[in-house]
Amino acid sequence: MKQKGQFLLFTDRNEFRAWLNKATFSRKITRLQDHHTWEPSYNDFNGSNHFEMLQDMKDYHMKKMGYHDIAQNLTTFPDGSIAVCRPIDDMPAGILGANPGALCIENIGDFDSGRDVMTIAHKETIIFVNAACAIKFKLAVNNTTILYHHWFDQDTGVRTNGTGDTKTCPGTNFFGGNTVDSAQKFFYPQISSKIQTLTNEPLDKALDFISAKTGINKEHWFNSALTTDWLPECFTKIADAWQKDINKPA
Ligand SMILES: [Zn+2]
Repeated sequence: MKQKGQFLLFTDRNEFRAWLNKATFSRKITRLQDHHTWEPSYNDFNGSNHFEMLQDMKDYHMKKMGYHDIAQNLTTFPDGSIAVCRPIDDMPAGILGANPGALCIENIGDFDSGRDVMTIAHKETIIFVNAACAIKFKLAVNNTTILYHHWFDQDTGVRTNGTGDTKTCPGTNFFGGNTVDSAQKFFYPQISSKIQTLTNEPLDKALDFISAKTGINKEHWFNSALTTDWLPECFTKIADAWQKDINKPA
């Protein structure tokens, strides 16, 4: 992790998640907002100017928009990096009508059709960040907890699901579209699947460990894990394996 002023930059997703999991926050987060920055876009990113772009956005938000800080809590970059920006405990200036309880994620790029083509690393990071935040803040994945800017009228703040005076944000081609339907078809299933993977990781690591210690393949232990008697059997086998290690002549 690198830090410059208030900005924390993570090039490693797992390091970001470790930071997030360890941190405690006083604000209750009940929803996530996904945005695209539109400007700056992919053209403005040169691979190493993360902090400069963050500072430029902050200057713009404070001097031109009159906000007290950069608008968003998190920013994601085309190379898959993640930055913590406005403190998580500070309500963002993301969507008129949907800021209380929200965590604002700004994804660098212009994801309207025919504009920036999202990189694979960026896709993975956006899914990862939404999943990691959903786990941390105990959010179900649905269209009241993970929001697109496009669903809110920008003059009234009323949720219209895309009618009235709305921005296209996070882009008409963001994960296949910016509608509620497209979020349900193309975005939420990927977040749910990532949540499952991240949640199962400790079990997966335990299975690897047991498999290495006992010399019995992982599938066996996975299948055992599905039955109620797997734990005692695991412990016995690990104890045996350890005993053998200990008794091995040096
Ligand atoms: Zn937006």
